[in-house]
Amino acid sequence: MDIVVDNITKKYGIQKAVDNVSFTVKTGQIVGFLGPNGAGKTTTMKAISCFLVPGEGDIKVGGVSIWDNPQEIKKRIGYLPEKNPLYEDMPVIDYLYFIAELHDIPKSKIKERIREMVKICGLEVEKHKKISELSKGYQQRVGLAQALIHDPEVLVLDEPTTGLDPNQIVEIRALIKKIGKQKTVLLSSHILAEVEATCDRILIINKGKIVADGSAEELRKHSQGREILKVKIEDGNNNEIFQALQNIDTVGLVNFFMGKENTYEIQSKNELSSKRNIFKLCVEKGWFLSELTPIETKLEDIFRELTMK
Ligand code: ATP
Repeated sequence: MDIVVDNITKKYGIQKAVDNVSFTVKTGQIVGFLGPNGAGKTTTMKAISCFLVPGEGDIKVGGVSIWDNPQEIKKRIGYLPEKNPLYEDMPVIDYLYFIAELHDIPKSKIKERIREMVKICGLEVEKHKKISELSKGYQQRVGLAQALIHDPEVLVLDEPTTGLDPNQIVEIRALIKKIGKQKTVLLSSHILAEVEATCDRILIINKGKIVADGSAEELRKHSQGREILKVKIEDGNNNEIFQALQNIDTVGLVNFFMGKENTYEIQSKNELSSKRNIFKLCVEKGWFLSELTPIETKLEDIFRELTMK
């Protein structure tokens, strides 16, 4: 069941929180939604889940428009909101029962579904406590359980692993990956490694606009107009090597590599490669080139490049 976001704009006063945003998430895809604080992630996710109405544009979930049948969309979506509003006076089991009833799960099936959710979300030990008595991480687990209980086709998860301990993070990531094989998942996160490990595709939003869309690999390729190399050259004078590297005409920038002797980080000029020239230089000078490896652009760097402009 695809999510199709078509040119949505949402204004708060004069501020455009979301500005002409379009993207599609296909069935079987897990899409990570990244962006700095205030970029418009939550606003977009709320609009998809029909918890707010955009000023302009349309969103379709499985072909149904938010303008035609928001109730139907709510049935199709499991939504974990960022602030995870829970009825804190209710015990976990009662709360999940209540949510299951709201989703019209047949009475005969509710107990079994709750049992499954308690198991999947690791709530066994705490299931009889009141939600207000639970730690933050356990409250997050309850939020996940309520998002999954009606076995929705589409999951919209706003920072799903916030507050979870490392063991649970690994389990929840694995669960999302498993679920994502058949369903459609859009999740936001500030943990870039998590998005890279969990998601097939990454959307980056900045100041309400989509600034990147692709797999981590594609984003890297796109930003890799500049070659960065780690080079270790031995048998020569450190400063002489540094100077000679700087004089290569394809080289843009040379830095000493932090904490490593005779090792340099070399950034080539845009669209150029310096590998051959470095090799030639070492042959001419009789230096021993003991390492020449490309440095992959980190997702953090790409994120900063796109969102610090
Ligand atoms: P974060 O990573 O901090 O959760 P976000 O990307 O989810 O950020 P949003 O919550 O979508 O960002 O907010 C986008 C912008 O819209 C922000 O500048 C925020 O202050 C503004 N905004 C959101 N909700 C409201 C509101 N109800 N009234 C006024 N402004 C709002």
